[in-house]
Amino acid sequence: MKSWLEISEARLAANYALLRAVAGAETPVLAVVKANGYGHGAVVCSGVLARAGAEWLGVTDAAEGDCVLRALGGDAEMKGRGQPKILVMSGMLAEDADVIVRRGLVPVVWTREQMEWLLGAAARRGDAVRVPVHLEIDTGMSRQGVTPGLELDGLLEWLKGRPELRLDGVMTHFASAEVAGSAQTRGQRESFERAIGAVERAGLRPDWVHAGNSSVVDTEPGEGNLAWLRAVALRAGARPMVRAGLALYGYCLPVCPPGEAADAFAPAVRGGLRPVLGWKTRILSLREVPAGAAIGYNGTFVAADAMRIALLPVGYADGLRRELSGSNSVPGGWAMVQGRRAPIVGRVSMNLTTIDVSGIAGVEAGDEVTLLGDGITADDHAGIAGTIAYEIVCGLRAPGCAVRR
Ligand SMILES: *Cc1c(COP(=O)(O)O)cnc(C)c1O
Repeated sequence: MKSWLEISEARLAANYALLRAVAGAETPVLAVVKANGYGHGAVVCSGVLARAGAEWLGVTDAAEGDCVLRALGGDAEMKGRGQPKILVMSGMLAEDADVIVRRGLVPVVWTREQMEWLLGAAARRGDAVRVPVHLEIDTGMSRQGVTPGLELDGLLEWLKGRPELRLDGVMTHFASAEVAGSAQTRGQRESFERAIGAVERAGLRPDWVHAGNSSVVDTEPGEGNLAWLRAVALRAGARPMVRAGLALYGYCLPVCPPGEAADAFAPAVRGGLRPVLGWKTRILSLREVPAGAAIGYNGTFVAADAMRIALLPVGYADGLRRELSGSNSVPGGWAMVQGRRAPIVGRVSMNLTTIDVSGIAGVEAGDEVTLLGDGITADDHAGIAGTIAYEIVCGLRAPGCAVRR
């Protein structure tokens, strides 16, 4: 293995427990394992979260849900326990309906057409089970969800005449939950409350009302989104639920505006989360270069003095961002060698990267190097690459999948 991920099951379970404690017993936390568990491996993470008591898991699509379900079915420690329900969060295509119905996945829907696909799949199976759906309300992201008003009312009216479908949940998603005092969130909350009112007037009784993401939990009690969610759900006679992804893996979105607002947000939550993922590799070879030697493509780094360079068998094909390249004018990222920073020198290339280990004694080929972990986080990579931690962890291509620790 040229590089590998190490997943701390203990940290994942602890992060989940912390979020649950903040959300409170009456507000379960749906554990989001979509996008292959944010690059951590959905199979490993689903098992840990299910054993930690997750009532719900959230996946990207039907195929991922099917994969997670198989993994849980083969998890010896889960035998005889209630398995989590699996919410398919990022839409569906007609051909997904059969898998969803056959495997008992719970799809997020917002159009009549999607529900007709499900009805068709249920009819083909000929069983009498009502197909559960979670209806997403578009409260202002213009992405997924039915628009409140006439469109929602029409859909609810249609749904009432379809006893083969069961409205198990009603949900929405916030665009700016991490933004302190966000007017957008306030608007979304009001829109969602009106939508829940329409659901009640239609005489439909969902079991679940859910919203939000990690930020809804890790900004409490400052923003009050969690308290709001509870109140809305209880008023509708449903159970509240909050969906969390990033925080499970130990990261938080930067709070905007930084500084003052960050202090208002429960530091106990944000400070208590620990990154779950380590990304390691080994040194392929070492080389002494003289002053004046150009390193990597286009010679963007030229050694000012003699240096000792270590070659790593990873590059942007593995998810090591090219923005981490270090030139003479702009320093880049770094790796950790023997607990010390070794700067990336020259361009990160497709499968190879060079780091400066001049100041670190006794480095040898085959030595372990930390690409992400103690001393370097996905936030560090994101800061240099001009993106967010989500994109860094989701972009990892380490072969060999996840190793348990
Ligand atoms: C990804 C996602 C989440 C989780 O978001 P985080 O910010 O990672 O906590 C919650 N809900 C929906 C609908 C999502 O797509």
